[in-house]
Amino acid sequence: MKRREFIRKAGVGSVVAGASVLAAVQPAQAEAKFKWKMVTAWPKNFPGLGANANLLADLINQMSAGRIEVKVYGAAELIPAFEVFDAVSKGTAEMGHSGAYYWKGKAESAQFFSAVPFGLTAQEMNAWLYYGGGLELWRELYKPFGLIPAPTGNSGVQMAGWFNREIKSLADLNGLKMRIPGLGGEVLRRVGGATVNIPGGELFTSLQSGALDATEWVGPYNDLAFGLYKVAKYYYYPGWHEPGSTIEALINEKAFAALPKDLQQIVLTACKAANMDMISEYTARNNQALDTLINKHKVQVLPLPDDVLKKLRQISDEVVNELANKDQTAKKIYASVSQFRQQVMRWTDISELAFLKARSV
Ligand code: CA
Repeated sequence: MKRREFIRKAGVGSVVAGASVLAAVQPAQAEAKFKWKMVTAWPKNFPGLGANANLLADLINQMSAGRIEVKVYGAAELIPAFEVFDAVSKGTAEMGHSGAYYWKGKAESAQFFSAVPFGLTAQEMNAWLYYGGGLELWRELYKPFGLIPAPTGNSGVQMAGWFNREIKSLADLNGLKMRIPGLGGEVLRRVGGATVNIPGGELFTSLQSGALDATEWVGPYNDLAFGLYKVAKYYYYPGWHEPGSTIEALINEKAFAALPKDLQQIVLTACKAANMDMISEYTARNNQALDTLINKHKVQVLPLPDDVLKKLRQISDEVVNELANKDQTAKKIYASVSQFRQQVMRWTDISELAFLKARSV
């Protein structure tokens, strides 16, 4: 209720009495406060991902002038990393921060909204989500769980990873023990690789001990922080398996519905701002870190051979097609994203790609 309206409706006769009533009542009426918990799939303050969760919470807190107070919990602080989806779905936490590919056990199609081998770049992914019908499909997918998803970050094209041997042909992938999760992992298995799923924190020691021959992580910025250059000699590109990995915010539908309209808009706008922030930060920090890796640590940065990439692309098409045929929802989402990909590629080829080639001539 607005101040003037309140005075009129309350029929306050005396200015003095009215003022004291207002002082006691108005703040509670105009400024309902919401205390939200945000559970995340990453360790607290983890470079990039954890930082993006913190940024998102800060943006919401500041833009709402404290009317929503979001407190961030790192993995295992409140609940384990892989229970983020359930916790927000049940309302144990009002928000979550994670990657959709973790939830394929809940909804197989969630994988379309995180990383698809040879799929969309960051810019193309945002275009599909915001303007190509992608976000509507994502919301539809999470609706039965009482969740509203929003993209809140993107890593951009990742690196193919760190290898302790040179990859000169497809045969070199045979028997390769590599940490590579998701659909990309399935692709590697089909060309003879052995995928091992271990948490990020154990990558260094696993490469050092020989439990792994190779690992992918993210890109120079995050990989430098892990010190992977000390335990693997070759750093390959491009990250065919994760060309534009999307980070998601999960919002409990009921908690969202309880917010006034302006706060709802603040939450969604904060997600958009954090989404833009992450790709900008990664682009800036990746190139600084790449410079350090090459010039200070003398890392060999190599392209995967064309024929290897070609084969990986063929197998990726197979794997993604199989996912698309799992159920009706997957079919619908795949139809949307594959049509968008086909169309946007025509444009990207004659805009970004043509320009980038021209720029480096
Ligand atoms: Ca990765």
